[in-house]
Amino acid sequence: MSFDPLAWLDEVADHRNRMGLHRSIVPYGTATPGWLERDGQRLVDLSSNDYLGLASDPRVIAAGMESARRYGWGSGASPLVCGWREPHQRLAEDLAAFERTEAVALFPTGYAANLGTIAALVGSGDVVYGDRLNHSCLIQGARLSGASVRIFPHGDHERLAHLIGRDQGRYRRTLIATDGVFSMDGDLAPLSELVEIAERSGSMLLVDEAHGTGVFGPEGRGASAALGVADRVAIRVGTLSKALGSVGGFVAGSRRLIDHLNNHAPTLLYSTATPPAAAGAAREALRIIREEPWRRERVHQLGRRLRDGLRSVGLKVPESEGPIVPVILGDVDRTLNAASRLLASGFLVGAIRPPTVARGTARLRISLAASHDEEQLDRLIEEMESVCLPAD
Ligand SMILES: *Cc1c(COP(=O)(O)O)cnc(C)c1O
Repeated sequence: MSFDPLAWLDEVADHRNRMGLHRSIVPYGTATPGWLERDGQRLVDLSSNDYLGLASDPRVIAAGMESARRYGWGSGASPLVCGWREPHQRLAEDLAAFERTEAVALFPTGYAANLGTIAALVGSGDVVYGDRLNHSCLIQGARLSGASVRIFPHGDHERLAHLIGRDQGRYRRTLIATDGVFSMDGDLAPLSELVEIAERSGSMLLVDEAHGTGVFGPEGRGASAALGVADRVAIRVGTLSKALGSVGGFVAGSRRLIDHLNNHAPTLLYSTATPPAAAGAAREALRIIREEPWRRERVHQLGRRLRDGLRSVGLKVPESEGPIVPVILGDVDRTLNAASRLLASGFLVGAIRPPTVARGTARLRISLAASHDEEQLDRLIEEMESVCLPAD
């Protein structure tokens, strides 16, 4: 018998199964805003990040199709070789105007935007400070960059200031990286304090607005705009894949920052540009976001109603605002069980387990969209009461 070099995968899989942590990908059927379909059952979709219902908006779809017809489906190459078409150009201009920055760099995904931007800004001899609850792409980006990595407790800007003070003079460049809106908790980073610390210590500050763009702040310009510090956050990363309903990542900033990224961010240089259709669709979604503020107002209003309702039946809902409503159940089995009972009642809710969240904090992550309604939320609250609370 020859040695099987992949045999270790079975041990890892066994462990995963024993811990209830095995996951698999499920195909869902056609969508109308706020709904998904599986095995002929219509499900209220409380799991996606399509907060404004734009991923299946007919105008967004039409814009994508028109771009595909004119410019082809694939982009053919890296944007620096020949992968940038008119829809990308227009999208970059519109995003820069929306973000009120000089320029925007486009990346294949939000994940790639964070990874590549961090790699272009720091390396060996530098340091990255990150919030403990930062998204995987900020953590991986920091690790892969070769810089030293320091993690501070969630939202603890005092601890961050202390760490930076202690490290003074030890590193060449310093980068503070944080989610603007935390993806699994829905709360906002203390951006006013982080901006102060960055300015005082001469650090670069990167804010990942993946869940902020389109949803928070004036015109939906994100968490840093909501907290009044957008113009002091020099590196703002966004994604086109959440409220903008498409796919792709971007960085908004000064001309010199964007020129630097276009020349030094490996995930931009060495990866094919998004399809022109994705850019065309995102551009239409951006227009809708600006012209239809009711979508973002609606999602906040639904968020308040859901939080109040869940608390009133005795469920523990952490402080946060906006469309991401976590209900922390702690135990993995309990969380899976609750999610599958909700599914049987027609609600698709994400069951979030380690390693996505810390051990002991497994949770249902309810993600609201402008296309949901009060009646659905009231039914959901009733179901959650019976599936999440221990019967007594
Ligand atoms: C989803 C997410 C990303 C990645 O964006 P994609 O465009 O899906 O790759 C980055 N940061 C945060 C905080 C996210 O939640």
